Amino acid sequence: MLHTNCYLVSSDNNCFVVDPGDDADLISRKIANKNLDFIFVTHCHMDHIGALYALKKKYDCDVFASEIDSPFIESALNADGKCTQHIDNAILLSLKQEFQNVKVDKKLKDKDVIDFCGEKFEVILTPGHTPGSICLYSSGQDILFAGDTLFDGGLYGRCDLMRGCEQDMIWTLKNAFVNIPDSCKIFCGHNTSSIFAKERILNQFLN
Ligand SMILES: [Zn+2]
Repeated sequence: MLHTNCYLVSSDNNCFVVDPGDDADLISRKIANKNLDFIFVTHCHMDHIGALYALKKKYDCDVFASEIDSPFIESALNADGKCTQHIDNAILLSLKQEFQNVKVDKKLKDKDVIDFCGEKFEVILTPGHTPGSICLYSSGQDILFAGDTLFDGGLYGRCDLMRGCEQDMIWTLKNAFVNIPDSCKIFCGHNTSSIFAKERILNQFLN
């Protein structure tokens, strides 16, 4: 059990998935008869992409990820089938379905906009946890998918994993979210969700 949050966003007959960490069968059951338009990946860690290969194979949908983290998704496994980020190997062994390297179809940059059923979702580059971590923000729905950048209770993502950077994270926390209103809900990559009004009080770096 990974304890990663996977999100399914749906509108009538269409949907997209955020961070399919594991259990492609469970995610497929939730998708049911809807069209899976794309899968959005917040960053390259195995606990957020473990079901990516199986879902892409089943639905033949596009995979969206940041252009910076994409190489680490496309070459998550080396020729021996081991994780190139070796701390991910334990997760790889625990996955419920086959994993192979996945091609990223759309490589996203800061401020890119994704249209989903007429609703605009903006990509926000949030380096720190990984160099290419991205959040997905909808002003219309007043929600942010935060990956492992922001967590409930004033916490933020670890910067001591491979390619993490504390300075980048502090820059991100101070600058990346300034235009997002206090009312915006935060859907985190792990644990419970939060709201900017609360995090701006608890997180020492957030403006
Ligand atoms: Zn992570």
